[in-house]
Amino acid sequence: MRKPIVAGNWKMNKTVAEAVALVAEIKAGLQGLDAVDVVLCPPSTALQAVGQAIAGSKLDLGAQNMHWEKSGAFTGEVAAPMIRELGCHYVILGHSERRQYFKETDEIVNKKAKAALAAGLRPIVCVGELLEERESGRTEAVVGAQVRGSLAGLSGQDLLKTVVAYEPVWAIGTGKTATPAQAQDVHAFIRRVLKERSDDHIAQSVRIQYGGSVKASNAAELFHQPDIDGGLIGGASLEAASFLAICRGAL
Ligand code: PEP
Repeated sequence: MRKPIVAGNWKMNKTVAEAVALVAEIKAGLQGLDAVDVVLCPPSTALQAVGQAIAGSKLDLGAQNMHWEKSGAFTGEVAAPMIRELGCHYVILGHSERRQYFKETDEIVNKKAKAALAAGLRPIVCVGELLEERESGRTEAVVGAQVRGSLAGLSGQDLLKTVVAYEPVWAIGTGKTATPAQAQDVHAFIRRVLKERSDDHIAQSVRIQYGGSVKASNAAELFHQPDIDGGLIGGASLEAASFLAICRGAL
């Protein structure tokens, strides 16, 4: 039985003071959510403060990115052991914004995933097709290549620690959500790719989140699809009431 996981990707939002205030509101509304893993992914400037603010609660901490090297001359980057030291257990990798604006490839995401796992972090590996790729019937080819490339060389044990986030790029921050059936089809396809890569037990055990304009009003229907195990939430994770309502959609 897969435990649903809902993660809030705050992107480049929230000062430390704003982040701590948001955590306080989220913490106050966590009753009844024991059956859902809830992860907060603030910007790296707020990781330490959020890590302290969630101590003792069910909330977990994730970073939004990291470099694949442990240390070195990579100005502006942070390494896996550094975010792990701040209390992160998760790290989002290969988000479409990083693929689009920072030219991250599957090969880079793969190096980061391996480095994250080596540092004791659970990668949340994002994949998803562009609108023109969907419209030209290439969704499975694109998503399959991203899954195979981003997770290349990971052992079965590593795959079990990994979360895949299916985020159709056309649905991110646009208000357009994949229908539950569209999302379910791609999640089932990703599970088939995982099975090719490992075995049925592992493929059935890996958690696959949906992301892309999830809101309180559509979360439950998406999350109740058989192969959808919660969500990666952008805009709606910046406000406690909507984020908590989405988390409840995973129950
Ligand atoms: C995201 O950035 O991962 C995301 C899903 O954003 P939004 O929920 O705002 O579409």
